[in-house]
Amino acid sequence: MRKLGILFVLGLVAVVSAVPTPAQSAVPVTLIKAGRLLDPRTGNILAPAAVLIEDNKIKEVGPPSQVRPAAPAGVKIIDLGSATLLPGLIDGHTHLFMDIVMPAEAERARHSNGGFVPGLLLAIVESPSKRVLLGARMAREDLESGITTVRNLGHSGIDGDTELRDAINAGRVPGPRILASGRKLDTRGETYVQNLNPALAEAILEQEFLFIDGADQARHAVRQNVFHNVDVIKVTAEENLTVPELGAAIEEAHRNHLKVAVHAVDKTSIQTAIESGADSIEHGDEVTHEQLKQMRDKGMFFDFTPTSYGDFFTKIFERTIAMSLELRPKRLESDERSRQRFDDLAQLLRSGAKFADESDERYDQQYNSLVQRVLKSGVKFAAGSDSSWFYPGKTRGETSVSRFPTLHEAGMQPLDVIRAITTNAAEMLGWQDRIGAIEPGKFADFVAVAGDPIADITELERVRFVMKNGEVVRNDFASH
Ligand SMILES: [Zn+2]
Repeated sequence: MRKLGILFVLGLVAVVSAVPTPAQSAVPVTLIKAGRLLDPRTGNILAPAAVLIEDNKIKEVGPPSQVRPAAPAGVKIIDLGSATLLPGLIDGHTHLFMDIVMPAEAERARHSNGGFVPGLLLAIVESPSKRVLLGARMAREDLESGITTVRNLGHSGIDGDTELRDAINAGRVPGPRILASGRKLDTRGETYVQNLNPALAEAILEQEFLFIDGADQARHAVRQNVFHNVDVIKVTAEENLTVPELGAAIEEAHRNHLKVAVHAVDKTSIQTAIESGADSIEHGDEVTHEQLKQMRDKGMFFDFTPTSYGDFFTKIFERTIAMSLELRPKRLESDERSRQRFDDLAQLLRSGAKFADESDERYDQQYNSLVQRVLKSGVKFAAGSDSSWFYPGKTRGETSVSRFPTLHEAGMQPLDVIRAITTNAAEMLGWQDRIGAIEPGKFADFVAVAGDPIADITELERVRFVMKNGEVVRNDFASH
């Protein structure tokens, strides 16, 4: 009873202090001025541009001569000079709760039963609390690099991503808007699961997955995630997942107004995802011409994840495990060719040259062809970084954003790259009414770059101004 009394008094204090005094404006109003504003939908440039923000939403967009008079007296003005303003970036596929360091052979052997299972396991067996703190850091770093919304698709423990989302929304920690998937739905026959060390498997699986074992179990798995208040359902489809099982999961998700993102790489899994009515196909490496046509007709999204494009993994391995002699993986010493490769690598690194592996080049060629096929098909597309690796020398945000210009290297026009991580991504998430464009009614989420991102898409890697929800996260223009 005493506690209740105290709560009541606190409640009264809160109500009294929330009443604004006459001198205060009820809602903060901000005017942003920039040399240029890019509308990703049309490719049009507004120059010069102004955006009026009331509280956390966009009120008006137009030339400064038109917008300025609409602003109330005492409006806060942010002048970005000649910068180009864009909508905040959206990472359609990420893993905030993993920051994998390639483990040494001995460590890998301890956690796996034979197959190659990368450091995912190390991230997983750590304490859930430690992992959430990691997630909070990754979220902040993504935001500082201009990613104002992410779709987090698994590997975050039972409720890590839903809790981080709520903490960010409540203003307790900084970070992007998060669409949280909770645990991934998977089959026990999936390679990753099969490769776990049986001694650790149950503990790991409980944190990471909800199993699909028949249609009823699939529905149950979706409901378990719904209990944790997820925003999206993630399913990993491999060849052993059936259409009735995936179909049941999708039906249950849609009944709960949730979209379903399906990880599918090989042709069979992609077909299962298409026939089951997935909302987006993640990765999709082996998608065929015929499958792309089916996806287009059904309005499904293709979500590009150019994570390993270029020399991404080579760089990671060089800078972490491969260069550390005491941790040098046995894999590299096990045969003559590997030993040679390691020595070449070490020499190249010492000379400062760029190392290119044959397999990297082969992968890149396949990816170039994938990008061309998807673009030609007219299927809707977006992109995600699929970030989960620790990249030495870069923050998580820098690592994530560095993946997007690789789509241009693979043949995508800069405007389409920007669409893939703004307007298109917003539609894939089902949030096209809230984010992804700079127009009245949308959340005030922006980034600004010094140059022209259409002329040089790598400008995205040098974001100098970030605003999320009407609040400035970063403004490097302010110091000059
Ligand atoms: Zn992923």
